[in-house]
Amino acid sequence: MTLTDPTTSTTTATSTTAPDLDAARAALRARLLADRVLIDLGSPGLYGRTGVFERVYTAVDAAAVNSQQDLDAEVLRFPPVEPLAAFERTDYIASFPDLAASISGFTGDDRTHRALLAARERGERWEGFLEPADLMLTPAVCHPVYGLVGDTIPQEGRFFDIVGDSFRREPSLDPMRLQAFHMHEFVHIGTPASAQQHRDGRIPVMRELLESFGLEIDVVPANDPFFGRVGQMLARNQVEQALKFEFVTPVYGDDHPTTAISSANLHEDHFGTSFGLRTADGEVAHSACIAFGLERITIALFAAHGTDVDAWPAPVRAALAL
Ligand code: ATP
Ligand code: ZN
Ligand code: MG
Repeated sequence: MTLTDPTTSTTTATSTTAPDLDAARAALRARLLADRVLIDLGSPGLYGRTGVFERVYTAVDAAAVNSQQDLDAEVLRFPPVEPLAAFERTDYIASFPDLAASISGFTGDDRTHRALLAARERGERWEGFLEPADLMLTPAVCHPVYGLVGDTIPQEGRFFDIVGDSFRREPSLDPMRLQAFHMHEFVHIGTPASAQQHRDGRIPVMRELLESFGLEIDVVPANDPFFGRVGQMLARNQVEQALKFEFVTPVYGDDHPTTAISSANLHEDHFGTSFGLRTADGEVAHSACIAFGLERITIALFAAHGTDVDAWPAPVRAALAL
């Protein structure tokens, strides 16, 4: 099977990738597969994971949680799909239609089933016989929380610890860009000041943690990959207003673009307005979230230190309790 990489740079979506960047990505991917860290599932950006991957992944997540212990955040877990109604209120489809994905199911009768099977027999695609269900794959794990907190947020705000599956339709041969992955988020909903404080106050803590893993980290203003021409404007605004910061690391060496392995995001009143959230003083609630990209941190570690975990530098193993 030959696959072409449809993505552009990992951190920006401006130019097509240099051939040697593609080669560097292919080399890391080949190494992770050859060393049985990941298992190719035959679709770009979808992998099975072996014991060595899980060992590091679990350690990364535990260290991330440990670093945010002082927040005393409320733990919430959600399934990998969300109701369409909840998805709608996030406005995700307006900004990222190309990344969104929905669930479909079969609702037909025997006749339709026979037509489906006949199409399948002819080697044709049969998913057209499925009907959209009112479920979407969750693209960002904090989304479900905003619909669950009630209308009024206490003045001191609330903190949430949320980890779960994210799905984004961005097939790629870059092992750092998966279609199905996990992020561990620490979300705050509160006043404009407390949301800003959450986003800003966590940045040094996150940086220190990621550096303790022996990774070279830069914290840079960033934008989400908003779709289309209007999206370019939104992306510029996001950078100008310094709403999003990414923790980037040079996975493919200093000559190539860095990759974001975590982010810290200020949503201002975006979710507060969409979900009708107010703080006790009657003002629209603001929110912020920090997100650890668990697979990206894990793979960045393999890229930096190799696939033999027992041979990693002692301080790195100590930071990860490995
Ligand atoms: P990028 O610019 O690289 O696409 P993003 O801005 O879309 O990243 P966020 O929406 O901030 O990423 O998601 C939080 C974190 O989740 C990212 O910092 C990254 O570590 C991780 N992440 C995002 N997209 C992917 C993906 N396709 N595969 C693996 N991890 C991802
Ligand atoms: Zn979030
Ligand atoms: Mg992205």
